[in-house]
This record gives sequence, C-alpha cells and structure tokens, in this order.
Amino acid sequence: MRDARYDVLFEPVQLGPVVARNRFFQVPHCNGMGHRDPTAHAVMRGVKAEGGWAVVCTEEVDFHPDSDTGGYVEGRLWDDQDIPMHERLVDQVHAHGSLAGIEFVHNGMASANLYGRIPPAGPSHLPVKEYAPIQARAMTHADIADLRRRHRAAVRRALTAGYDLVYVYAAHNLSTFQHFLSPWSNLRDDDYGGTLANRARLLREVLEDTREECDGRAAVACRIVVDELHGADGIQRGDMDPLFELIGELPDVWDVMVGVWEDDSLPSRFGYEAWTEEHFRGIKQLTSKPVVGIGWLTSPDTMVRLVQGGVLDLIGAARPSIADPFLPVKVEEGRLDDIRECIGCNVCVTGDWTMTPIRCTQNPSMGEEWRRDWHPERFRARGSESKVLVVGGGPAGMEAAMALGKRGYEVTLAEATRELGGRVLHEARLPGLAAWIRVVDYRRTQLGKLANVEIALESEVTADEVREYGFDHVAVATGARWRADGIGRHHRLPIPIDLVDILTPDDLYAGTRPTGDRVVLYDDDHYYLGGALAELLAGEGKQVTLVTPAALVSEWTVNTMEQPRIHRRLVEAGVELQTAHDLAGVGGGEARLVDTFTRRESAIPLESLVLVTARLPNDELARELGVTAVGDALAPGTIASAVWDGRRYAEELDTPARCDDLPYRREVVKLA
Ligand code: ADP
Ligand code: SF4
Repeated sequence: MRDARYDVLFEPVQLGPVVARNRFFQVPHCNGMGHRDPTAHAVMRGVKAEGGWAVVCTEEVDFHPDSDTGGYVEGRLWDDQDIPMHERLVDQVHAHGSLAGIEFVHNGMASANLYGRIPPAGPSHLPVKEYAPIQARAMTHADIADLRRRHRAAVRRALTAGYDLVYVYAAHNLSTFQHFLSPWSNLRDDDYGGTLANRARLLREVLEDTREECDGRAAVACRIVVDELHGADGIQRGDMDPLFELIGELPDVWDVMVGVWEDDSLPSRFGYEAWTEEHFRGIKQLTSKPVVGIGWLTSPDTMVRLVQGGVLDLIGAARPSIADPFLPVKVEEGRLDDIRECIGCNVCVTGDWTMTPIRCTQNPSMGEEWRRDWHPERFRARGSESKVLVVGGGPAGMEAAMALGKRGYEVTLAEATRELGGRVLHEARLPGLAAWIRVVDYRRTQLGKLANVEIALESEVTADEVREYGFDHVAVATGARWRADGIGRHHRLPIPIDLVDILTPDDLYAGTRPTGDRVVLYDDDHYYLGGALAELLAGEGKQVTLVTPAALVSEWTVNTMEQPRIHRRLVEAGVELQTAHDLAGVGGGEARLVDTFTRRESAIPLESLVLVTARLPNDELARELGVTAVGDALAPGTIASAVWDGRRYAEELDTPARCDDLPYRREVVKLA
C-alpha cells in the first residue's frame, strides 16, 4: 500500500458543487483525435479516469463556427448534433468515478478560421497568429454580447452532455478572453479596453454567465495565463494581485499556466520539473478557491512538496498523464517503481501539430486504446505456449520482450552488449537529453519483475545459433546504423568526399571524436540529433558549422515545439548555422555548399565532417532467418516508433487479424 507521506495527494478537494476524489487533475490537452475520432478520444480519457485521475478534461473545444480551429483536430460543440460524442466521453470518465471537464475555446485572433472562412474577430484590428494573411476585426459591443450568448449556449450543452466542470479559458494566447485581458492584444479605448478592470470585463462577464448557467450543477474552472512572458507589454505576474481582487472568487477552481503552449509543454531538453513553481507561488494566497497548475510534474515527492508548500491544491498534468495514465493508482498502491515517467520529448505534441492521433514515446498504447484495444497496463493473455526469442535490447526489443512477458509468453531477450537500452543509452548522454533514459529504466525494471523473461546480455546471436535454439518465434530488433556516404533526403548517390575524417553519430557514440578543430556537421536528418551532436562537439571546444538543406535547423522539431529553443541554444553554444545549404562535396580542405534556393555555390574550410543523414536497418539477421524485423531494424525512425513497433509485435503474436485487411478500427461518420 501507499506510503503515508503521499496521503495528502489522496485527499478529496471540493470544487464548488462537486468533489474531486483526490488531487490528481488531468488538465485539458490536445490529442489529434478530437471531433474526428470521438470514440477513440472518449476511451483514451476513460483510461485516464481508470488510472486514478480525479478530474479528466477534454482538449480545447470550439463552440461556434465563427472561431474554428482550422484543420487542427480539436474538440467541437457547435450545436446539439455534437452532444452525443461528448456524452460518450463523459460516460467513459464517469464509469471510473472521475469528474469530466470541458474546456471551451474561442480562438478569436489566434485562428485564421480557415475551415469556415468567417472573418476572425478579437479585441482589436490586428493580424492573426502565425503569418496567415488575414486580420481579425475588432469586436463591437453587439459582437461581444453575441459571443457571451453563444458561450452560455455551449455551457448548457456541456451540462446536457453531463460534464461536471466547465472551463472559461484565458490562456496560451489561444483565447479571446485572454486577448481582451492582455495589453499585448487589446488596443481598445472603450469600456473593454485600457484599465485592467476594463480589459478584465469580458472575462468577468463570461465567468458570471457560466456560473449562472451551471447553477450549482457543475463547477466553473478558469484557466488563466499568470505571465505572458512579454514583459511590460503583456500580462505579468504582478497583474494577478489586482485581477484576483476583481475576479478571484468567481470560478470554483483556478487553473494557472505561464506563457504559451511552447512554454507550458517545456521539453526536458530546456526545462526541469516544477519550473513553473516560481510563477505560481503566491497565487493560492490571492483566492479562497483551489488552484491547479502544471510543470512537468512526474515525481510524487515534488507533488507533495507543492501541495504542502502552499503552491497548488491540485496536481495538474498533461504529459505525465499521457506517459502514465495510471500514475495516481501506482502512487496509491505504493508501486512507485512501476511509474512510466514522461521523458519530456514532446512526441505527444506532434499528434496535434500533424493532425494525427496522439502518440507517446513512453506509452505506446496512447491513442490506440480503442482502435487497437491496447491498454497501458493490461495485456491480452498469450495465444499459445510458444517460446519467443527477442534479439536486440533497444527500445523496440525491450518493449516487445516486456509486452510478450506480460502476455505470459516465455521470452528470452538476447542483447549483444553489456547493457539494455540500445540507441537510448547513447542519446540520453547528449546535452539536455538525460531524462530520456527513463525509456530504458522503466522497461528494465518491468523486465526484472517478469519471471518468464530471461535476459541474456553480451549475447550477440547469429542465424545459426537462433536456429539451434529452436524458439517458436523470433523477433529481430537489432536496430540501425548511420550511413557514412551522405545518402539521405537530398542525395540519392554518395556525396563526393575527399577527406579522411568522416564520422557518423555511431562513431561519436563509440567515443571517437573529430581529429581537427574545424568541424562541419551536415544534418539531412532534420530532427533533434544533428543539433544535439553539434551542441556536444561545440561544448567540447570544436569550431562547429551546422549545414542543413532545410530553412530551419532541426526543422522537424517545429512539431515538438523545440525549434526556436534549439536555434537559440546552438547560437549560444557558438555553433555557426548554415541553413538552406546543401553539402555538394568535400575536397582540398573545403566543404562545397550550394544554396538550396539560389543554387549559388560557396565553400567553408573544414578538417572533419560529421554526417547525420540516413540510416540502414540492421536487418541481415532477420533476412537470414526469414522473419520480420521490428523497430529500427524494420524501418529506422523515432524512439517512439521503435517502442510502438515492439508493442505491435507483442500484441499481434497469435492474435487473429481484427477484420480482413484493416489493422485497426476506424469510425465512419454518418452521411448528412
Ligand atoms: P531499436 O530502436 O529498434 O530498439 P536500437 O538500435 O536501439 O534499435 O537497439 C538495437 C539493439 O540490438 C542494440 O542494443 C544492439 O546492441 C542489439 N543487437 C544488434 N544486433 C544484435 C545481435 N545479433 N544479437 C543481439 N543483439 C543485437
Ligand atoms: Fe512525455 Fe514524450 Fe510521452 Fe509526451 S511523448 S508524454 S513528452 S514521454
């Protein structure tokens, strides 16, 4: 059972008319399923409730076509037709004794309204976010009255759907109520602009409207940005004192955050647990209402400290609840070593940005709860008495062996080296990526608890040996190796390179270092690795130039919301950045570059070259044995995709295909 020091986390908290059974609060978070995959979304939230989160919320839910979320797959509650999908979500959450919350959003000037084409509206005539070539128009008093009326209608629909908690949203620079509140976006000179009281007027009115509509049937939450991080141009932490004097008692619970989403979901590469604490300290003392807040809170000890230290009443979580939907249950049952701690990689965020169902590096079942029947904790029983050999103890092999073990198979996991972990062992040693080792830690601990899984380290196996052993099934998860010839996205033939000192990430992992001081790192991979290796070498005193054909360094990290911070960090580390340049060749002590837009040629001196381009799967063993490879040995990708593929292998063994050719369930909308 649980340690008494965590008792405080299991105290119930009164939220106006409803009671949260403990202090674990899954704050609203996007998931890339929303209104397109409503049942998948509902079941995912239900699993969180099952895992012990006392409050489980939706993502942002738009409530009128005059502020749509474009192609982003968020929640929707425009009219009564949308109520059933919300009822389904509420039912899933209620089935496990949790409270269901809904976060309404009016994006206003944060959305170009690309779907419905209605001109966006906000406090002032200002361009919308993200360079979309359109401006929001300044709302009239009639517009404001109309917005309030529609928000009220949305609240009534939320109550019909059964929600226990309704948000008034003024955070993340995504909400009209924040845009009115902030001097950064409110340039009005009427009674909704100017003084703080005027700028807060709309938020106050909507809070009052929402209270009136809820009328004791549901709690009212207010999510507020306590500092926009714009300095004196925006909302600052100091504004909270006078603001809370005005509206501090209106909601039943305050949900606090800092900056924009990129700050809120700060990747571990740039942040640390409870980094928000300095911003949240003192808020609780401004109101008698409970306060929930986030901060990449994965450790129960930190949670206890924040509650006992008077910073928060409820532990807010998005990512920690994604990586481990059963975190509260595990704390309650005293199973701390079973917690699958979030690594802060923001792969979950990529689902929203790429408009695809959420995924998670640590939790491969995330987003697959309904469509593939995967559960974060429960595994279908084995389908036979087969004995399985898993070759390779990287993320794919560890996940496969663990999931097979949990299904009840007798498993042997053979790893060539002395340690389990594969690529993660190397990558977690790169600057800022230490938390990634949790991928290995969690699985190593779980494997250690499975009596039916045998781990053979320092066991590089060959095809002949495998045949001799006589296993019924073999999963080959032998990883991949980086190419040293330049072939990748921009080159389909080897790059002509006349230079002795060419290194790949594998060489750097093995401890080899460039012999010369002037290093060119050519990044045609475009995710985090090129940047992280450049930072590593610069930190070791090398003069590094990062060359990439993309317009941005580590370009794909726009999807993990890391890109601007990576750029800044590289500049600060002294790395020279040559974006939009391809590496045409190397010779005579020079790297010949070509501008990818103008095709103009240039050259920079170098002594050593690091190539981060493409990988080749280590699939020789799989081919010799005639079995399918798993993870990077099948198709090199992310750690998340390797873990997911390991899980898929384990799930599909002896499991009949779902239906004919479709590997997973899909939801088909009814024709109008
Ligand atoms: P993935 O991301 O797909 O899990 P990794 O490259 O991280 O791939 O891990 C592959 C693992 O497989 C490494 O730990 C490597 O040492 C191991 N491995 C490769 N070939 C063999 C082999 N023939 N026998 C046992 N282990 C192997
Ligand atoms: Fe955490 Fe990464 Fe999973 Fe997101 S994807 S919840 S950051 S481990």
